[in-house]
Amino acid sequence: MMELVFATNNEHKAREVGQILGGKFIIRTLKDIGCNEELEESRETLEGNAAQKAEYVAEKYGVNVFADDTGLEIPSLGGQPGVLSARFAGPGRDSEDNMDKVLELLKGQNDRSAQFRTSICLVVDGKSHFFDGICAGAITSSRAGLEGFGYDPIFQPEGHELTFAEMSKEEKNAISHRGRAIRAMSDWLNEQV
Ligand code: IMP
Repeated sequence: MMELVFATNNEHKAREVGQILGGKFIIRTLKDIGCNEELEESRETLEGNAAQKAEYVAEKYGVNVFADDTGLEIPSLGGQPGVLSARFAGPGRDSEDNMDKVLELLKGQNDRSAQFRTSICLVVDGKSHFFDGICAGAITSSRAGLEGFGYDPIFQPEGHELTFAEMSKEEKNAISHRGRAIRAMSDWLNEQV
């Protein structure tokens, strides 16, 4: 089985991705390869940030590695928070503050459509490959549910009555942006053998 490093320190994401790829690849974390650094994400696009992280780890540790970057894109806010999703309410603020800011900005707004977009950069034998995953939906008017993380309590995927935070991990993985991007990468990897 091929070994792949997932360049993240987020245990939550590592578990989600492990569930999707489990059995097909051996997934190692940054900790497993002795990398305890906070990886820099200073580019202006999701693709740029994913590449910045994956290419750094590939070069420094000589491994096959992938990294992701996700943004919540809201058309009525000009695509915000986008690449700034993690720190939308400002440095040192948390997901609760970020959700409050989104709900406040959308007050009285008819168009509450939104999408999560994940970009993955996979570096195999020193070459970068990109994969994308989108989940379309809408921002609810208040929080619902306790599962997941980030903006999950206020995001309702299209065609569903529940928010991501009201779904089981399996339900979320089946339709989520990250699930789709990971499966696109997995399909591509399977075609290479
Ligand atoms: P990251 O690039 O995956 O770390 O995502 C950046 C930010 O987007 C996170 O800090 C979260 O606020 C948000 N985010 C990413 N993925 C999800 C998700 O699956 N649900 C809710 N929020 C997410």
